[in-house]
Amino acid sequence: MGEFITSEPWAKDPRILLMHFNNPPVNAFSIGAPKEMLETIRQAEADPAIGAVLLVPGGKGIMGGADIRVQGIAWPKGQPILNDLIEAIDTEIEKPVAILHRNVALGGAIELSLACRYRFAIPGTKVGQPEAKIGIPPGAGGTQRLTRLIGADRALPIIVSGDPIRVEEAIEYGWIDAIFDDATAVDEAAAVIVKDLDAGVARPRVREMEATVQNPGIFAEARERAAKRARHQLAPVACIDCVEAATTMPFHVGMAYERKRYLECVTSDQAKSLRHSFFAEREARKIPGISRDIEKRQIAQGAVIGAGTMGAGIAMCFANAGIPVRLYEREEAALERGLARIKSLYEGMAKKGRISAEAAAERTGLISGTLAMEDLGTADIVVEAAFEDIDVKKQIFGTLGSVAKPGAILATNTSYLDVNEIAAATQGREADVLGMHFFSPAHIMKLLEVVRADKTAPEVLATALELGTKLGKTAVVAGVCHGFIGNRMFAKYNRESEFLLQEGATVEQVDNALTNFGMAMGPFTVRDMAGLDISWAMRKSTAHLRDPKERYSKVGDLVCEEGWYGQKNGKGFYVYEDGKRLPNPDLEAIIDASAKEAGITRGTVSDEMIIERCIYALINEAAKILEEGVALRSSDIDLTYMNGYGFPRWRGGPLFWADTIGPRRVLGGINYFNTIHDFWEPAQLLVRMAAEGGTFAEWDKENAQ
Ligand code: NAD
Repeated sequence: MGEFITSEPWAKDPRILLMHFNNPPVNAFSIGAPKEMLETIRQAEADPAIGAVLLVPGGKGIMGGADIRVQGIAWPKGQPILNDLIEAIDTEIEKPVAILHRNVALGGAIELSLACRYRFAIPGTKVGQPEAKIGIPPGAGGTQRLTRLIGADRALPIIVSGDPIRVEEAIEYGWIDAIFDDATAVDEAAAVIVKDLDAGVARPRVREMEATVQNPGIFAEARERAAKRARHQLAPVACIDCVEAATTMPFHVGMAYERKRYLECVTSDQAKSLRHSFFAEREARKIPGISRDIEKRQIAQGAVIGAGTMGAGIAMCFANAGIPVRLYEREEAALERGLARIKSLYEGMAKKGRISAEAAAERTGLISGTLAMEDLGTADIVVEAAFEDIDVKKQIFGTLGSVAKPGAILATNTSYLDVNEIAAATQGREADVLGMHFFSPAHIMKLLEVVRADKTAPEVLATALELGTKLGKTAVVAGVCHGFIGNRMFAKYNRESEFLLQEGATVEQVDNALTNFGMAMGPFTVRDMAGLDISWAMRKSTAHLRDPKERYSKVGDLVCEEGWYGQKNGKGFYVYEDGKRLPNPDLEAIIDASAKEAGITRGTVSDEMIIERCIYALINEAAKILEEGVALRSSDIDLTYMNGYGFPRWRGGPLFWADTIGPRRVLGGINYFNTIHDFWEPAQLLVRMAAEGGTFAEWDKENAQ
């Protein structure tokens, strides 16, 4: 018995060797696993009593493919890699090897199965080649064999997107041979092999098949799409090239080509960044001092206060997860509007085929409106999404303190306000209170900042995180401060982008420079979309807190004073006509006036300057957030930015990117900017890192508890 593999002859016919693979949690091909599999298969090949091998993944059945932890590093000498195992099955082993996919089979697991003679699965199993999502093409023959097995037209989108498909679809493509119920799958799969053994039928090897292509234009089309949607990214282009190679090159040449492209990508900064994103998600779930096994509170019923933009979206999150939810409003008209919007959003989703009409009706039915606060008394959690006004929130939480049932979690969706102050309003229920900061549109955006207040009970925090996962969110823990992690950083980034306008850049130049860097949208496009009046109101209400000596750009305020609130009324930093975003011809005069008032002579600003000023502003504020303990680790900050603010995943988030270029270079840039504009305050953590040669990744390791 090995570390990963156990084997036994099938009870009904000992010619079939059942090879069980166990490497929890996801049966990844860690160092040592390919070796044991290869040894077992070679022994079977040499044993005249055995006719075939059936590989069955144990545990949850998930085969996660290659072990991402060891990607990009050298394997120990003498240890075969997955490619060696696959190559041996495909060229050296004459006896049929079969595989049974259970629940999930991805990446290397699929590449292994493509060298097998039989591919079986249980219903609902997801199969896919997700490598592109971590910045690489499949590197163990996936592009060459899948293209041969199901044709380039089908293989291409699967490999380029990295999205898995269900076996019920895969069987139609000829990817899977048969689907059996889990309870009987091993027996049924073995019986198929026995039948072929008895009849002397030998299934073909995929490598011998011809790679067909129905539409020869697919490669050019895919390249065009990648240039638009995945600009700068190496992996999608490598995937397209490799699939095309399968249709033009002999098998062994295509294999060498795929390997070359894989090796180029796997050691790239992009792949490192994407691996970082992958592990950051796992890390974020670990909260120092709170055990994973802590008993969570039951969430069977939810409630939301306020049926506006956010409240309606948050209610939908609950309904999407199958949790009934009460939506409370103070005015009937607002409630009706909110419920109507929810209904129309669900109907729209059904029309577009994203969900079935039944699911739309079912989810709409899970949301019920009320104008009576007492109706929230049965909810296990109440999420408040009323106006961003501390008095409104305090009044609501004061009432909740007595209305909500004992043990109910009381969450606020506030973007900036002090969650401790809100918690205190409950008079005695502070332990039940925390922030659950959803992003707009709440039913779509992945990010959820869970704000831990001073007195939040550990099980309340753990329950909110678990609920976040149930709602399909990536939850990140933040501490209390103005704007928490994301918005606090975003404020510095926006401030910088406005300064650049005053110094001579145009709105379009700033947005283009940052989208060229990889941001999903430029800062001015984002602000126009979100609506400029809301942040204006906030700036006005906090104006008295501003240090008068601090540099302040009035551009945003002047734009609002003109009555331009962004997309919602057709004009903001841009103008919106016939669904198009165009430069605002009246903006230059405003920027000029604001520069003049501030005593700034406008000149030219380079794109490099725009990127460095805006992204270094993010990094500098992030370093302060980390130092203050508002974020638990730098990877949480990266996650926040990638999931909530469109920071490119292939750059790994602002702090991973800072590590890539070196904190010393970031500090050097900030010090240089300070010689021209003396408003930069370098984070002490950055100063220390630059002096001692540290990185944010090392900081995370040193501070892991
Ligand atoms: P909104 O103006 O669209 O909706 C607020 C709703 O709350 C309105 O329907 C209003 O009638 C209702 N309301 C006000 N006072 C109430 C009370 N006492 N009881 C019950 N209902 C009341 O605002 P929004 O954009 O949905 O923002 C709501 C909250 O979410 C704010 O705290 C905001 O900071 C936060 N937030 C907003 C966004 C965003 O992008 N809009 C993103 C994250 C968080």
